[in-house]
Amino acid sequence: MKTVEVLLPKPFDHGFDYLVPDGVELGAGDYVRVPFGKQSVLGVVWGAGKGDVPIAKLKPIAEHFSHLPPMGDTTRQFIEWVARYTLSPRGMVLKMSLPVEESFAPKKEKLPKSKAGKKVVEELGEAFEKVDVQPIAKPPALSDAQREVTETIAARLDKGFSVTVIDGVTGSGKTEVYFDAIARVIEGRGQQAERAISPRSGSPCDSQEANHGAKQTLVLLPEIALSTQWVERCKARFGFEPLVWHSGLTPAKRRESLRAILTGEAKLVVGARSALFLPYANLGLIVVDEEHEQSYKQEDGVLYHARDMAVARAHVQNLPIVLVSATPSLETVNNLREGRYEKAHLPERHGGVHLPQVSLVDMRQEKLDSGTWVSQRLRAAIAETLSAKRQVMLFLNRRGYAPLLLCRTCGHRFACPECSSWMVLHGNKTKGQLRCHHCDHRDAVPKACPACLKEETLVACGPGVERVAEEVAALFPTARVEMMTSDTMDSLKVAEMTVQEMTEGSIDILVGTQMMAKGYHFPNLHLIGVIDADLGLQGGDLRAGERTYQLLHQVAGRAGREQEQGQVLLQTYLPDHPVMLALAAHDREGLEQLELVAREDAVLPPFGRLAALIIDGPQESDVVHACRQLSLKIPKHADIRVLGPAPAPLTRLRGRYRYRFLLRSPKRVALQPYVHEWLSQVPLPNAIRLRVDIDPYSFF
Ligand code: ADP
Ligand code: ZN
Repeated sequence: MKTVEVLLPKPFDHGFDYLVPDGVELGAGDYVRVPFGKQSVLGVVWGAGKGDVPIAKLKPIAEHFSHLPPMGDTTRQFIEWVARYTLSPRGMVLKMSLPVEESFAPKKEKLPKSKAGKKVVEELGEAFEKVDVQPIAKPPALSDAQREVTETIAARLDKGFSVTVIDGVTGSGKTEVYFDAIARVIEGRGQQAERAISPRSGSPCDSQEANHGAKQTLVLLPEIALSTQWVERCKARFGFEPLVWHSGLTPAKRRESLRAILTGEAKLVVGARSALFLPYANLGLIVVDEEHEQSYKQEDGVLYHARDMAVARAHVQNLPIVLVSATPSLETVNNLREGRYEKAHLPERHGGVHLPQVSLVDMRQEKLDSGTWVSQRLRAAIAETLSAKRQVMLFLNRRGYAPLLLCRTCGHRFACPECSSWMVLHGNKTKGQLRCHHCDHRDAVPKACPACLKEETLVACGPGVERVAEEVAALFPTARVEMMTSDTMDSLKVAEMTVQEMTEGSIDILVGTQMMAKGYHFPNLHLIGVIDADLGLQGGDLRAGERTYQLLHQVAGRAGREQEQGQVLLQTYLPDHPVMLALAAHDREGLEQLELVAREDAVLPPFGRLAALIIDGPQESDVVHACRQLSLKIPKHADIRVLGPAPAPLTRLRGRYRYRFLLRSPKRVALQPYVHEWLSQVPLPNAIRLRVDIDPYSFF
């Protein structure tokens, strides 16, 4: 009896042996369904049986999805690579590749082979009918700089692994340029760079018939940027809807999408980070837009950075990859400098519109009444902008009304019962609510202070967007003020309405958080005021400066998108800080240079490697004990430094106590084998959870 090893989307590093029923031919990569305990589970044949369990005890494969092309060798190699890199069980990585429960929709296993084939063709037909084919917008005539970049990228298509970084200011046509590359790949024109762009058919299916070289493209976007605006633009350009992959898909939709991806029927897939792991039938190009975005780092389950893993996938599968940003990450900047990546530069905004004028408001010189946050200078600029019938955007990266509520009499502060953090006041004191921004615990605001029992003594401290909106509404009573935060945007409809109203001009002042910094285009927006430009610089994160620059640069990029130069005022108490100076002078390279030197001196990324161990549990004493056990077994290594254990800055989260170790090594020394060896010597009790974060981006 033949046996095969089947890898299952379960927390095991190894596969399990199963019997192959008579008359069934199975090879590596084949999709199968197998019994597992009481469950029936989808898995992938990983190789020949290992023979570690007697044949008599093995169960047979329940179903072979013979109509599906097997998972390719390089996709399986990529899964193996990610598992090794992130020190995760291979089964957990497979789970990210096969995020469906039991089957692919719809079931067709009972059909004999020939009929199954016919069925697939019918389904393809159905899918084809569903494709909303529209007249394709003629691609715009590209500028010289844009054409140069498209040609550079076109020349790398179908030529194996390469990393191209499209580095260009907001509005310079980066999207336009990578759309050109997508068009070539999905129409199989990869090597025909010289041919004019003339999309002839809107159908992804029929271009597959006509062009043998047609391949799939994957575009990764930060979750937040997966907007209707992007999809509409895509539809207009290519004439069909891209397959949008995100965490909110229904199980049925997810199965259907997965099938389209692994048969190759879906030519263009756009998704947030999780789309990277799907088993594409014939990937030809990966694009990572906004490559510098922090949200590419997955902080749950398998901890990975999707941009880095995307480069790894491109390398394993020998594909070109394009990273896109107006403010590339320092990791990418360094890879460019060292010649591992190639730069494609778009230096100017399309149509010659100037970058906004950025000025610093020195808050040390401003005299503000207590409980107000808008400086005289910003007020004057708002008044001027409103009287010119132009729009204003105020930015503060803090949801809610105030970050802290305290008792004026006894000093009591409201803290989350589950986390070591203060409760944030949402709404005003009388009809407000206290919310924990870490675990979402919510409490009503009490009438009296729970500590001293006095009434009318609670005061809100510090600003959130709601409070700033209240302040400007009082300052400019005739202006139409709206807010845009992830609270008001819980429903996508509200978000799109706000974007629409802002675009049409029925809002005068939009007050918002990070949410509104992303890629929106508001033609009449002239002035942007940043209430607390220093906010991101607090707390000694190694990327604080880099990130603050990226975020504020992006916020600033919303101003003056058409014709007239926009204006940006940054309120800061640190007007001499290199980040503030770089923002005012549009001097990204100067800041990069400073940061690179500082990171190199400290052997920090991109010049050194970091890994974090996060140990948590419901009892602090158990966590401390586990840390002590780990400390005793720290292996000796000349090039690796282990810091800690130390209580995490957020020591309690959702009721669990958290401690951390931080490991650091020079670039040439990988940390994974070291961590693997260390952890294998320290068994931990079940109540203790230990997570390994390779290349950590958060340190709280
Ligand atoms: P980015 O991705 O760099 O922000 P986009 O590709 O979104 O830039 O381009 C910004 C705007 O300029 C879009 O509305 C786009 O359609 C337009 N645009 C870019 N290049 C051209 C061009 N060559 N001709 C006409 N419009 C263009
Ligand atoms: Zn909490």
